[in-house]
Amino acid sequence: MNVYDSDRMADLLAPMGYEVTQAADGADVIILNTCHIREKAAEKVYSELGRLAPLKTAATAGDAAPLIAVAGCVAQAEGQQILDRAPYVDLVFGPQTYHRLPEMVESALRTGKRIVDTDFPVEDKFDFLLEEHSSGDVSRFLTIQEGCDRFCTFCVVPYTRGAEQSRSAQSIAADVKAMVADGAREVTLLGQNVNAWHGEAPSGGEWWLGRLIRYLAEIEGLDRIRYTTSHPSDMDDELITAHGDVPQLMPFLHLPVQSGSDKILASMNRRHNAADYRRIIDQLRYHRPDIALSSDFIVGFPGEDDADFAKTLGLVSEIGFAQSYSFKYSPRPGTPAADHGQQVDEAVKNERLAGLQQLLRAQQEGFLQAQLGTTTDILFEGGGKRSGQIMGRSPFMHPVHVEAPDRLVGSVQPVRIRECFANSLRGDVQTVSTPPSTERSEPATEDVYA
Ligand code: SAH
Ligand code: SF4
Repeated sequence: MNVYDSDRMADLLAPMGYEVTQAADGADVIILNTCHIREKAAEKVYSELGRLAPLKTAATAGDAAPLIAVAGCVAQAEGQQILDRAPYVDLVFGPQTYHRLPEMVESALRTGKRIVDTDFPVEDKFDFLLEEHSSGDVSRFLTIQEGCDRFCTFCVVPYTRGAEQSRSAQSIAADVKAMVADGAREVTLLGQNVNAWHGEAPSGGEWWLGRLIRYLAEIEGLDRIRYTTSHPSDMDDELITAHGDVPQLMPFLHLPVQSGSDKILASMNRRHNAADYRRIIDQLRYHRPDIALSSDFIVGFPGEDDADFAKTLGLVSEIGFAQSYSFKYSPRPGTPAADHGQQVDEAVKNERLAGLQQLLRAQQEGFLQAQLGTTTDILFEGGGKRSGQIMGRSPFMHPVHVEAPDRLVGSVQPVRIRECFANSLRGDVQTVSTPPSTERSEPATEDVYA
């Protein structure tokens, strides 16, 4: 979501004449868009700011100093403290106020005053965002929901991103249509708890995510739909059955479980147990037998003993994940678990993380290896590593490289997987189906691979 937000910030500053640059040196405005989810992510911000400080102090009269801004969840959580700790920072603003960025930049330049804006405003940020610039990208992100009301005891999201908010189905569909007209073939619907989305339906009333996905699947030219990140307790029947009924909905789901122990899940305030999770996975596999799963895990949550951890390993072995993210518990200021009396030793956390990651890595490699020799639909997104190559993604998100002409970018083609690397695959296009008629693609002929 930070990638999406950063792109929107660039869109907001474009009418003021700013263009995106990858080099901080020489930039007029530098924005660090930050994450507060774990301590490590938050600490990175200060070390990065330390590296940027000389750009500010080295500026001379003829060469104006850049404005330095801190955006995102660290800004939301720390506010004024950032200005105190890093005196060269000009702007601090949270995820819900970045639509005010042009005013903030204009005011800071005019008055030289430093600004902190960490409100949760009454106006809807999305009403103020400008139309996305044309990127021509085949795969796009779109935020449809923000914030969270679940208050898991380890998590800062409800405090930094605020209360759950859903955009209307109509405004989401309008954005998706504009993206498709600009060359998009895949959209990933984003939200901190995206399957809690419940927005206004086009003809009034309320829809839930499964219904929205069915509606978006009717948009011509949209080949693939994904959504992330979901909470197990918000997987309702309409959403689960959509995995069987909607071919555009990709058979890959990121569904964080965090732990396999009911005692720990209760202490995390997850409001589901391990059996609920298994049941949801069974239902998903019933409706979409080839669905691949990904998850998040926390090890060393306060009170987690060896038996609890063994239950996590047991759940992983039983379910089998194509991909996963795993973290050591990181106490976050202001969250209930941070004050829990039974914090787990760092050494124990390290050991458990290593054990879990070994198992998850083996599953991930096994899943990738199993793709060898299969023929899978690949959506081509752009150039590959070498000339003459293009890169696409499998339904399961694996990058796949093939030797093929650029004009297949933007189309879905069947590819036979021939080689398997650590994180990617290589294959050969089987038969060329006609790519959609966009500017970049001409009708393919049968002998393009001869
Ligand atoms: N909404 C998603 C998760 C969003 S946060 C859900 O409900 O599952 C992304 C991931 O970061 C979480 O799934 C969790 O595994 C991890 N995480 C969040 N807070 C953490 C903390 N305090 N310590 C370690 N990992 C954390
Ligand atoms: Fe955080 Fe996800 Fe729990 Fe919400 S549901 S509090 S985002 S972990």
